[in-house]
Amino acid sequence: MAPRAPFVPPEILLLGPGPSPVSPRVLAALAAPPLGHLDADFVRLMDRVQEDLRTVFGTRNRFTLPISATGSAGMETCMVNLLEPGDRAVIGVHGVFGERMKDLAVRQGAEVVEVRSEYGRPLDVERMAAAIAAGPTQLVGFVHAETSTGVLMPPEEIVAAARRAGALTVLDCVTSLGGTEVALDTWGVDAAYSGTQKCLSVPPGLAPLSFSDAAMQRAAHRARKAPSWYLDVNLLGGYWGGGRVYHHTAPVNMVYALATGLDEVLEEGLTARFARHRAIARALVRGLEPLGLQPLVPEACRTPMVTAISVPDGVDEAAVRRHLRAAHAIEIGGGLGALKGRIWRVGLMGHGATMTSVLRVLAGLADALRAQGRRVDAAEAMRAAQA
Ligand SMILES: *Cc1c(COP(=O)(O)O)cnc(C)c1O
Repeated sequence: MAPRAPFVPPEILLLGPGPSPVSPRVLAALAAPPLGHLDADFVRLMDRVQEDLRTVFGTRNRFTLPISATGSAGMETCMVNLLEPGDRAVIGVHGVFGERMKDLAVRQGAEVVEVRSEYGRPLDVERMAAAIAAGPTQLVGFVHAETSTGVLMPPEEIVAAARRAGALTVLDCVTSLGGTEVALDTWGVDAAYSGTQKCLSVPPGLAPLSFSDAAMQRAAHRARKAPSWYLDVNLLGGYWGGGRVYHHTAPVNMVYALATGLDEVLEEGLTARFARHRAIARALVRGLEPLGLQPLVPEACRTPMVTAISVPDGVDEAAVRRHLRAAHAIEIGGGLGALKGRIWRVGLMGHGATMTSVLRVLAGLADALRAQGRRVDAAEAMRAAQA
């Protein structure tokens, strides 16, 4: 048979809400030959990845490992292990990923109390605390950085309220990990999960996860086994921990990639990396004003790694994204759920959080707006961003 035409992906600058750009070094790690998944050299790499994940999560939790699936599987791992039918769960919903967490809690047969805030605003701490105190609560869950809205929710007060009530806390760190401070032990968070394709700048495919001893105790003493075999932390602990009991075949090359992504994160240093994300986001926001664009979220609760931009009246939201992709080879995101058609989302994450990305996306936005008959000052936007 004649050779088939290979799939060659075009070179697109990924400035959406994920996946984020991947460095050549991480791509090279993916292309190395796989080892056996119980090979002694691979087991050593597993240990190293677990230790590095503890560092980025800010924890000494023994149970810290990547789930072999995407961020949503990290969320599901928390819910299937920590909730049983009839448990009371308070879920804060300030965007689409909070909705997903609520859905997963409902699927466990839990009695779910949701505390909502308007998309684009943080959770109301008082209302969360009141809902937690209103009944015996087993679990409190919410999203740290809501990628669907661009809001960063400081977790300390809600976590403290949960601990006072004896509830375990679950924190979604999918977008925040590696881009802004995550300090599970200082905050007292019991379970947290992330994804590789946001600020860690590794392709999608793994979900870093960490459970405190209290969370592991809850999972170990359930009335019934967790309804998921693949995501049962008792079994996963036997594979990634001391016994090395075969559970599933870890996606070996993705573990290479994550290890290399973590090397890059730790070589840069967490503090420097967080400062870079803040500085780059600030540059983007400064450049928006000369284009007649406004961020959706007030500065005080904006997350640096994803900026939601309100679509001005009369501008075709989807046409701007199509123009960026076709004429500038840039991907940005649109709105989800209640914000569909109303915002663009520009992700400046990990390897993509650079001044070059900011200048390219501002130039692209200026051009796309001009194509819709807007009069915008692209040069002024560039100057403002670089100031
Ligand atoms: C991306 C994301 C998820 C889902 O992760 P997937 O890898 O798409 O499954 C969950 N929560 C937040 C905050 C996210 O940004």
